[in-house]
Amino acid sequence: MITFEKTVKYSRILNPLKNFEEDIVTFEYRTDPLTGRNTTVIRGMLKYISKSLVSDEELLSSLVEKTKVSCPFCPESVKEKTPMFTQDFLEEGRIFVGDAVVIPNLLGHAERSVLVVLSKEHYLKLNGFTAKLVFDGFKGGLAYLKRLNEVEPSIRFPVFIFNYLPPAGSSILHPHMQVLARDRAFYLVKLFLEKSKAYYEGNKSSYWSDLTSKERGGERHLFGINGVEWFVPFAPLRGSNEVQAIVGGKSNLLELDDKDWLGLAEGISKILRFYHGEGYVSFNVILASGPVNEHLDYFDVNLRMISRPGIQASSFTDAWALPYLLWDGEAVEEPELFAERVKKFMRAPS
Ligand SMILES: [Zn+2]
Repeated sequence: MITFEKTVKYSRILNPLKNFEEDIVTFEYRTDPLTGRNTTVIRGMLKYISKSLVSDEELLSSLVEKTKVSCPFCPESVKEKTPMFTQDFLEEGRIFVGDAVVIPNLLGHAERSVLVVLSKEHYLKLNGFTAKLVFDGFKGGLAYLKRLNEVEPSIRFPVFIFNYLPPAGSSILHPHMQVLARDRAFYLVKLFLEKSKAYYEGNKSSYWSDLTSKERGGERHLFGINGVEWFVPFAPLRGSNEVQAIVGGKSNLLELDDKDWLGLAEGISKILRFYHGEGYVSFNVILASGPVNEHLDYFDVNLRMISRPGIQASSFTDAWALPYLLWDGEAVEEPELFAERVKKFMRAPS
């Protein structure tokens, strides 16, 4: 059984912004229904940090121009300046799908991580990430994973990640994503797998399908595309405009078909249009997979995405000590209010 547990706590202060009248600050502790991790929803925090979330457009334009000059991922350089796969792995050296180019990583995050250059454009606003662009990137990454599985079946744990622009941790500005793959699960995936297995054993049902049924049509549910369900998590991992997606009944990336990939790509593109509408320029995505060599009834492929702060000279970061080192979650507004804003945006004529 999934339960959404929350406890509300208050603090009283004499507020200098209100002539030292007594004011009440609310802290809502929410427990992640799978992992038990706490996320504190702090009402008013979004407004408090909002000036750090917008970008200095002039600074952003100059960053785009400066980085373009020596960009290895721009079309005129990608074949000259990026690594190639060894001949025994892939005779052609690189994988091309639409505008996407898959290349080995010069210095990756895992022993078999690769990069997928997503566009011919050096810079894209978040409404420029079309479903086709993301879909082609996914298909390129998938072609790599299929080949990797033939050559090295022991590399069982892939994830797809996007870090877009420096606030999201990207050192190269040009739109790209990464496929990280290694023989051991990344920590969050390991935790998800362990907790999902325990849930399955205790409840005789899958946490992920139970969660989908519980959220579908509810206040945090956003939309469904091709069997991929999109909603705002009850207890966000990170909480900055965080959205979750679940690919029902598919436990690893090699099980996904075109319909599933399109459901993910269209969803990402829709949420990025929403972020753009709210003035954001930077984001992260993770797409988590179970081991590729077996089907697990207790786990579904799932995605999280968040927006990141704006490009500003002050270099504000939302990776402060609490989430980064204490591993606790923090949400800057109530997830249900955020879901309502997304739905309002989706309903508006584009
Ligand atoms: Zn470029």
